[in-house]
Amino acid sequence: MLRTHNCGELRIEQVGEEVTLAGWVQKVRDKGGLLWIDLRDRYGITQLTLEEGRSSASAMETARKLGREFVVQVKGKVVERYAKNDKIPTGAIEIDVQSLEILNAAKTPPFVIEDETDGGEDLRMKYRYLDLRRGTVRRKLELRSQMAIAVRNYLANQQFVEVETPVLIKSTPEGARDFVVPSRINPGEFYALPQSPQTFKQLLMVSGFDRYFQIVKCFRDEDLRADRQPEFTQIDCEMSFVERDDVLNTFEGMTRHLFSSIKGVELGEFPRMTYAEAMSRYGSDKPDVRFGMEFVELNDVAQNKGFNVFDQAELVVGICAKGCADYTRKQLDALTDFVKRPQIGAKGLVYVKCNTDGTYKSSVDKFYSQQDLAEWAQKAGAQPGDLLLVLSGQTASTRKQMNELRLHMGSELGLRNPNEFKPLWVVDFPLLEWDEETERFHAMHHPFTSPLKEDIQLLDTDPGKVRANAYDLVINGVEIGGGSIRIHDKATQQLMFKHLGFSDDEARAQFGFLMDAFEYGAPPHGGIAFGFDRLCAMFGGSETIRDYIAFPKNTSGRDVMIDSPSAINSEQLVELGLTLR
Ligand code: ASP
Repeated sequence: MLRTHNCGELRIEQVGEEVTLAGWVQKVRDKGGLLWIDLRDRYGITQLTLEEGRSSASAMETARKLGREFVVQVKGKVVERYAKNDKIPTGAIEIDVQSLEILNAAKTPPFVIEDETDGGEDLRMKYRYLDLRRGTVRRKLELRSQMAIAVRNYLANQQFVEVETPVLIKSTPEGARDFVVPSRINPGEFYALPQSPQTFKQLLMVSGFDRYFQIVKCFRDEDLRADRQPEFTQIDCEMSFVERDDVLNTFEGMTRHLFSSIKGVELGEFPRMTYAEAMSRYGSDKPDVRFGMEFVELNDVAQNKGFNVFDQAELVVGICAKGCADYTRKQLDALTDFVKRPQIGAKGLVYVKCNTDGTYKSSVDKFYSQQDLAEWAQKAGAQPGDLLLVLSGQTASTRKQMNELRLHMGSELGLRNPNEFKPLWVVDFPLLEWDEETERFHAMHHPFTSPLKEDIQLLDTDPGKVRANAYDLVINGVEIGGGSIRIHDKATQQLMFKHLGFSDDEARAQFGFLMDAFEYGAPPHGGIAFGFDRLCAMFGGSETIRDYIAFPKNTSGRDVMIDSPSAINSEQLVELGLTLR
């Protein structure tokens, strides 16, 4: 080793020892005859001192040549500091330098390599290897590593076997486009990168592996939204001979274990809520249940009083903001502007102030009496001092808008405490989802998800009503994982493909291998996958998954450091059969 100790471990107990350290120069302070150097590595910072006359002339000379981020090796004696620094663990000592050697010089870095940096996002991405030198960034990846290890240990203890599945495969539909890779030796043919290992993990159940997991890269060619990465990591799991609750209980266990072993947080209950209930109470399939402010449907008290907007609406829905009756005109206008933003798309916002004197003041006083408004308030459980906010329109879109408003109010009122973690299982998702564009049904989860037994007979008559045996784990309004009990017989799988608009031939060409496998003794099985990047971000207290990925892509799907994607040369194109010579 080029060192006897790292830069984070020397303490007062080591005073008098001769040591060798190696690392990066963070800072040099030259006070004439006296020189201090902060030497940094992954483990910490240790102060070096040199003094004219005391230190060797050659060490002094070398020290004066140093710039930021030079890589050096230093030998010296551990001494007690006069002015101790209690902000760092090595702050009681310093190294009295005897010899100093430059192992590698460095150009001045384009931004400051400290927790607080002056580098903008783009610059830091271009020089990600320098950004990763910063403690704040490195600690995020250390957390990620710790979490991956905890997952492996936990699942291994539960008899899960980690199996690697291939990356060059063919389409596994998870609702996105595939990334494809041309095959040179099979001209004109392509592999697809897995959107998930879904079919392989199911085949492993047919093989009798019983419990599988993998921390695995998945690839989805989607239009990039904020905080999506074209390649991301899942904790992918599958179990045989299980029903829904077995899967939920197993992964509730894993989630609890991670929270308690890594964050020291003991999670409370993991309540279960159906999709239908989540939609009607929160207007979202991933409700943030750290706070109430649940939806109150007001159709029966608000309609048929001459207010046309409400009368025409499929849904009139309100939320009660506690203690907000004193909102000013300006605050109410801001809320109206919020819901009218194009991303939210409401036409307007109705409010009712439940004044502390027992009267009501609303934006629709023209149409509603005090008695009417009292009825709304009663229905919404609003007390004097509270504010009712009401939206109306077509059910699905109004719920969506109200969900946004609810989350906005929750944040504004400080009800979304980042140190509180509230899990929720959302179950019984719809099996199919109507797609306006293609005018056909899509699998809401994926085509291998089993319908609820009691709903199968609806497939022919009312496919949109069929519920799936599918579930999501939601924490604080963030979807952390999702999975389902699978179809495990060929006939049902064929039926499913038919309903998704596949011809028999298409289904066979794409998924014949899976349906064949189902004919050789496929056990009942089900599983789940967790978004690992997002879980890490949540544990780190951040909303940006990019920070928890060592070398992420930017919002245009580019790696600006290696400059990818990039063109390939014409010989390669020819060789791959992508162009004619
Ligand atoms: N393959 C699914 C997904 O990526 C998860 C699962 O059903 O286990 O969402």
